[in-house]
This record gives sequence, structure tokens and C-alpha cells, in this order.
Amino acid sequence: MTAQILDGNALAQKLRAGFKVRAEALAAQGARPGLAVILVGENAASQVYVRNKVNACAQAGFYSEKHAYAPDVVPQVVLDKIAELNADPKIHGILVQLPLPKHFNADAVLEAIAPQKDVDGFRAENVGALMQGKRCFIPCTPYGAMKFFEEAGITVKGKEAVIVGRSNIVGKPMAMLLMHAGATVTVCHSQTRDLKAHCLRADILVAAIGKAKMITGDMIKPGAVVIDVGINRISEGPDAGKLCGDVDFAAAKEVAGFITPVPGGVGPMTITMLLANTLESAERSLST
Ligand code: NDP
Repeated sequence: MTAQILDGNALAQKLRAGFKVRAEALAAQGARPGLAVILVGENAASQVYVRNKVNACAQAGFYSEKHAYAPDVVPQVVLDKIAELNADPKIHGILVQLPLPKHFNADAVLEAIAPQKDVDGFRAENVGALMQGKRCFIPCTPYGAMKFFEEAGITVKGKEAVIVGRSNIVGKPMAMLLMHAGATVTVCHSQTRDLKAHCLRADILVAAIGKAKMITGDMIKPGAVVIDVGINRISEGPDAGKLCGDVDFAAAKEVAGFITPVPGGVGPMTITMLLANTLESAERSLST
């Protein structure tokens, strides 16, 4: 069997075209969606992510601002900027690019963002609302992953879903979303005994580990839907410098029914759902 590729670039393009139309309609009512991105330090990957987010805003007709700070900036400077952005009517979403330097209390910075502008969905209010199935900003990566099921017509209800990884930004919210969608969910992590046995039961397997090609072909149930969230840079061999996921794609695609590639799978969808949340925030601002 060769798996059907779930193309994140194509799906992202399709959704963003719709966002552009909605953004122009909002602009006509004086509420062009606006995103502020805060970047602290010189992490190369963070700089790329921030650039991609700012470019995605421009392409979708959103307003955006980037606020970049030196790695040794005093945290209060960033907190003051967040307070200013919280009060700025042009801004509907505020994103702080993680990781922050060690002298920052990342939780305190994220909690400083006004809940109605927390388009990453990391604040406790949003996390709680997600758990209760109430209206919230859904964290962008798992939100994007869920869109693949919708697009490919994959039924989630009643399926065995296994997530490898339990982080606050990917694994846990992914588990909530799949549970709400009717899957029976297992969350695996570094203490899990016999990971392979869990993975082999999965109709839907989500890998969010951060370890290159850790999920091998023999860990995948034939016909499973495999969502590879991992982004890893290959350090040696002929592919050194290239990106790969947490799943051994070449082997997995021979077993799975559907699979997301890396790059070009979940990555573009993460940015797309950041736009979706910012758009939703702008729409909400008109109705409040
Ligand atoms: P974290 O490091 O926060 O979490 C990794 C999780 O993997 C932890 O729960 C950890 O378990 C688990 N884990 C580690 N080793 C093993 C193991 N040997 N067996 C089973 N579980 C294990 O990472 P994130 O969730 O932030 O990110 C995961 C990956 O996704 C990374 O590659 C990241 O770059 C990528 N990513 C991609 C995004 C995208 O847009 N495509 C967005 C966000 C992240 P434990 O909790 O026990 O330590």
C-alpha cells in the first residue's frame, strides 16, 4: 500500500484564499485583522517562523507588526509592549514566539496577553475552555492537524487515536480535540512502556516528539492515518541539513493509509490556523 499524502501546502493555500476574502470584508468595516508578533533573541528557527508568519499575514491581507528584542532585554520591556498591544484596537492577536531566553518567566509573559487576543490559545482561560468544549482559541498546531481529517473526509468518531507526546502546545490539546471529535484517545510519552504496541493499535497516529524518524514503519497499523508534527534537522549523512519529521516517512508511507509529509504537512497548517484565530478575533471585536 502507498499512503495518500495529506498536502499541507495545498490545504493551507485553499483556506488562506478564503481568509483573504473575509479579511477584506472586515477591513471594509474598519477591522482589518491585525497580528503582533514578539520575538526575543536570535534563535535562527524562531526568526524563520516569525518571518513566515509576517509574510503569511501580508499575503492574506492582514495587518501585522513585528517587535524584535535583543536576547538580554529586560522582561518588563516586553511586558510593557504586551500591555500596549492589549489596548491597541488595530491588533486582534498577539503572539510571543517561543522559546524565550532563560531569564524570562514564559508563563508570566503568556498570561500577560489579553485572553481575547491570545490567538495561540496558550493562556489558562483558553486551555480550560478547550477542555470543556467551549468556544476558545484552539492552539494552532493541533487545530491545523484536525483540518486534515475534515479535508480528506476521514471519520474520527469511534477511531483509536494514539498521540506520542504530551506537551501543552501539541500533545495535550491534540488529545482534547480528538476526544471531542469522538476518538478513543491514548497519550504516550517518554515513560510509556511498549510504545510500539500502543502505536500499532492506532487508526490515527499523531507523532509530536521532536526525535527524527523515531516512529518506524513497523510501528504503524496498515491503513492508519499518520500525522507527523515533528520538525527535526538531519545532522549527518547525505541528507544533512534537510528537515524530517518524527516518522520515518519512506517506510511509513508503504504501510499507512494517509500521511502528512515533513516539510509541507502540519507546518504550513500551523501558520494557517494562526491566521484563522486572528481572523476570528477580529470578527469577535466587531460583535462586542
Ligand atoms: P516537547 O519537547 O515539548 O514534547 C515532546 C514530547 O515527546 C514529550 O511529551 C515527551 O515525553 C515525548 N517524548 C520524548 N521522547 C520520547 C520517547 N522516546 N518516547 C515517547 N515519547 C517521547 O515538544 P513539542 O510538543 O513542543 O514539539 C514536538 C515536535 O513537534 C518538535 O519536533 C517540534 O519542533 C514540532 N513542532 C512542530 C510544529 C509545527 O508547526 N509543525 C509546531 C510545534 C512543534 P515527556 O513529556 O515524558 O518528556
